[in-house]
Amino acid sequence: MPRYEFRCRECSSTFEVDRPMVAASDPAACLAGHADTVKLLSTVSLGGRSTGGGRAAPQAMAPAGGGGGCCGGGCCGG
Ligand SMILES: [Zn+2]
Repeated sequence: MPRYEFRCRECSSTFEVDRPMVAASDPAACLAGHADTVKLLSTVSLGGRSTGGGRAAPQAMAPAGGGGGCCGGGCCGG
């Protein structure tokens, strides 16, 4: 199930939601219950974990979600 990232415009927090693609555009309330949220573009791990100097995305410090690892799905390449 794809994961979508949302940002709450009330408390400026970001959160992730696992939902089927058919519900991708459905509204999602933030963890605090605010309904004024926007869906962010889902990024597919654009680098970031190898030896590079680039520190491009300001949102690289997303809160650690929980289960799952990047290397499980093959996005790490090899
Ligand atoms: Zn909120």
